[in-house]
Amino acid sequence: MADPTDPKHSFHELVIADVVQETADTRSFVFDVPPSLAGLFGYVSGQFLTFEIPWDGFRVRRCYSLSSAPGLDAKPKVTVKRIDRGRVSNWFNERLAKGDRIAVKPPEGLFVLRPGEQERPIVMFGGGSGITPILSIIKTALTKTGRKIKLVYANRDRDSIIFRDELEAWRVRYPDRLEIAHHLDAERGFMHAANAKDHFAGLEHADFYICGPGPFMDIVESALEERQVGRGHIFIERFVSPTDPDRAQEAAPAAPAASATSSAPSTFVCTLEGERHEVPVKPGETLLAAARRAGLEPSFSCEEGYCGCCMAQLKTGKVQMRTHDALTAKDLTNHWVLACQSRLEGDEPVEIDFDATY
Ligand SMILES: Cc1cc2nc3c(=O)[nH]c(=O)nc-3n(C[C@H](O)[C@H](O)[C@H](O)COP(=O)(O)OP(=O)(O)OC[C@H]3O[C@@H](n4cnc5c(N)ncnc54)[C@H](O)[C@@H]3O)c2cc1C
Repeated sequence: MADPTDPKHSFHELVIADVVQETADTRSFVFDVPPSLAGLFGYVSGQFLTFEIPWDGFRVRRCYSLSSAPGLDAKPKVTVKRIDRGRVSNWFNERLAKGDRIAVKPPEGLFVLRPGEQERPIVMFGGGSGITPILSIIKTALTKTGRKIKLVYANRDRDSIIFRDELEAWRVRYPDRLEIAHHLDAERGFMHAANAKDHFAGLEHADFYICGPGPFMDIVESALEERQVGRGHIFIERFVSPTDPDRAQEAAPAAPAASATSSAPSTFVCTLEGERHEVPVKPGETLLAAARRAGLEPSFSCEEGYCGCCMAQLKTGKVQMRTHDALTAKDLTNHWVLACQSRLEGDEPVEIDFDATY
């Protein structure tokens, strides 16, 4: 059984050191990390923190990306934009104040600056609050590499541009390496694939980082696909909420027919924290859900296939993944799977390793 007190996968209380009003509907929250937790809360630009708050008798979790950059900003900071009728984003913006304590899981996530050739430019598409991990990556890329960066940043209007002044200050500091193109819906309507293509014309050989609302990401992705940009050079972070306990019933997806053939095995083996476990699986159940039902505690967060927290390496057998946006083409070749999206497929026994080194 996994050690539920493993500090990497546990929640720790951090104190809010500061709250910054960024725009009318967005605030940043800066944290004090005590020396005893400094190692655990070390992070890479682009990673996120997972928060847990009490909600009507149960607990809800949400991820927020770090907008700070290690080595450049003294303390970690997340930036939260209110969502209409959203539970936690409004709670953060209305209720959380300097000096408050909040339960936080150490940084995780794969939407980070991938090592690339120095001459390969970086193109970043950010929409609204999607700028958060992108700003962090820009700061690190500018100061730690010599790569050129183009940021395409879409917002409703000028007043809703988060980090407008900070981005401009970075552009002024690195005029030959950072180009910023703002797209304001109020002036030009929503971004279309044609606009997106214009923005990266001549830069098809770049590494692309995309983060923002679903429809914006779909448009940018389809534009990249049309221009035949390789999947191995596209990195995506989707901002979604996990299903809250009270919403689980209505959100439960029907089991996909292909995953539950009559001959499909009804157990799989997983290695977690050095121990092998045989885990029973219900038809259509994901490997993560089955492992958790069996009392195991692998790391997980968004449960939507976007954050990469529940990655494991497939040792034998086959699984079917509904989505695997968090994984690169190379990850797939190296047999990485997302347990929250994986269902058993075929007759061969399936074994996955949560402990495998990435
Ligand atoms: C890796 C990662 C990083 C992220 N980083 C950031 C960040 O840096 N900044 C940021 O602002 N956000 C970020 N997010 C998004 C964030 O985690 C939340 O998804 C977001 O704040 C909305 O949460 P909420 O609780 O306010 O809204 P929710 O309560 O989750 O609701 C969202 C919307 O869906 C509707 N809804 C949800 N469930 C139902 C239902 N059952 N029936 C009807 N309507 C429903 C709500 O009414 C609302 O309009 C990130 C997400 C991920 C996965």
